[in-house]
Amino acid sequence: MDGRDHYGFILASSLLPLVGVVAAIVLLWNKYVGPSDLIALAIMYSIAILGISAGYHRLLTHRSFGTSRPIKILLTVAGTIAGQGPALIWCAHHRRHHRVADKPGDPHSPYLEHAPGIRGALRGLWHSHLGWLFDKDLTSDPIRYCPDLARDKDVRFISLHFVEIVIAGIVLPGLIGLALTQTWQGFLTGALWGGLVRIFLANHVTYAVNSIGHYYGRRRFETPDESRNVAWLALPSFGEAWHNNHHAFPKAAFHGMRWWEVDLTAVFIRALEVTGLAWDVVRIPNDRIEARAAGLARVGGGRLAPAAPPKPLAEQPQRDGAADVE
Ligand SMILES: [Zn+2]
Ligand SMILES: [Zn+2]
Repeated sequence: MDGRDHYGFILASSLLPLVGVVAAIVLLWNKYVGPSDLIALAIMYSIAILGISAGYHRLLTHRSFGTSRPIKILLTVAGTIAGQGPALIWCAHHRRHHRVADKPGDPHSPYLEHAPGIRGALRGLWHSHLGWLFDKDLTSDPIRYCPDLARDKDVRFISLHFVEIVIAGIVLPGLIGLALTQTWQGFLTGALWGGLVRIFLANHVTYAVNSIGHYYGRRRFETPDESRNVAWLALPSFGEAWHNNHHAFPKAAFHGMRWWEVDLTAVFIRALEVTGLAWDVVRIPNDRIEARAAGLARVGGGRLAPAAPPKPLAEQPQRDGAADVE
């Protein structure tokens, strides 16, 4: 199974929500949107974004925390509902992104279009935002990039049933609308707002982390890539937009590293931890964060010294699995 198997579906799940957004705007214009639609939108948006950030990203791709099998299954299904592709494919692309971020081989860097000037910049941003999903030749083999997940029968099963789960994620907000309004119109507008409009909004927020998060924002850490912290995107992305922090410490469970860096996924993981549902939560000690921000690295005996320039990635040892993205 690779990205090509889902080409048609990913195309549909990118374009159909656009139709949904236009329909929703027309309905809004005609005042056919009620509180039940906005409730369905808010619930489904939170489920999908948390599924991507806590499930697909921090749990499956980076192993930032441990949890029980039922919570892993719930988070993986929630991430699948987002419609961004099966977990195995998403995680394979993302581990490959961390290995060669902004270098040849990165599935979604905005810098690999070499045309000069504003045209090249816009083409690069388009490619990193959405264009890469339509590249039929772009595949990241899960066996190579995430053999640990390919061996996980739950992740494999959920990945194989991607299409059915995405459709269920559109029907579910319809049922919320039906329950709240007791009308079929409530079902339809619930599915529209909580399904299609939600897919459109949540996916563009995630894709903006790939595009804007490597293009425009602040860099606290000197990483060998162009990752950025994008403060205005932090709230809607539930903390994923502290992307320079994340590239500096990919295994960290908490991407917000200052008190003002809002990270709702970190709040969620902490809540799981205090209720005993998550453990081995990877935390980076403050002195390590500050030393890295100051351009210092730990040398022999725990001393801090100016960091050596990062090695070109091609020279770094290539290993498979989660260890690559520590
Ligand atoms: Zn990145
Ligand atoms: Zn990552």
